[in-house]
Amino acid sequence: MVISPSSYWTGPLPEATPPADMAMYRLPTGTYTTRAVFAVTGGSVRDKRDFAATAVLISHPKGDLLIDAGFGAHVAEHIKMLARMERAPYQLGRTAAQQLDAAGYDRSRLLGVLVTHVHWDHVSGLDSLPRVPVWINEAELRYGADDSHGTVFRAVSQGLELREYTFDGPEYLGFPASFDFYGDGSVIVALAAGHTSGSVVVFVTLPTGKRYAFIGDLTWQMDGISRGAQRPWLMRRVADVDAKTVRAGLQRSIALSRVLQVVPAHDVAAYDSIPLLPSRFPSVTL
Ligand SMILES: [Zn+2]
Repeated sequence: MVISPSSYWTGPLPEATPPADMAMYRLPTGTYTTRAVFAVTGGSVRDKRDFAATAVLISHPKGDLLIDAGFGAHVAEHIKMLARMERAPYQLGRTAAQQLDAAGYDRSRLLGVLVTHVHWDHVSGLDSLPRVPVWINEAELRYGADDSHGTVFRAVSQGLELREYTFDGPEYLGFPASFDFYGDGSVIVALAAGHTSGSVVVFVTLPTGKRYAFIGDLTWQMDGISRGAQRPWLMRRVADVDAKTVRAGLQRSIALSRVLQVVPAHDVAAYDSIPLLPSRFPSVTL
């Protein structure tokens, strides 16, 4: 896939007024290993790729939010629920819940976990976050309830409150519809679809002005952005509900890659500029 310089985003960026004390942290929970030949077109059979399973914490005065949940304490069981060809060797680090607890974080600050989509490697960690609501849109909820790739989601979401949001906002940076989570433009959820029925891109604008796009699995690795490498043909057939929509979303993400930091969910290095949780989480001063 080739993108010409004229396709890069040159328009203004949408207005955002993130509060001065908003912050963002990464919570890497582990990795799993995939052969590059399955991960990106042009990948070699011998080359192996580590796939990140990382949650991101948004700390916001109106309440905090996790984007995806990473691996949970029962990830081994979750992997056993997958079809044989989808199972992969993995390394479990500390779950998001363990990292929050270790930092002395008060979990009642969490408004919920906003999932980019419901595949196992994004929701496994919900098993360790009881009483934390899951923010999800209707299309993804239906996919999670019906699709064979929703098995782990159905297991880990049992007993959790599901908060359904709707895309009541306008087109956002080329994506057709949006939801403004805090109402201040700092966290915008945009419908991407394609990978699953209700896959989203989460756009974050920090008080420093730095912007991020968490694009979920529109592409798994940075190659998808830097050289427009799509998933190999077979994996597009297996992994995506609509490969054409994924391609359009990927194209939009590439176009934005000069004005914001694009983070493909499974690229370990893409998270580098986001700090880890501090060892003592700063308590809110009201
Ligand atoms: Zn994934």
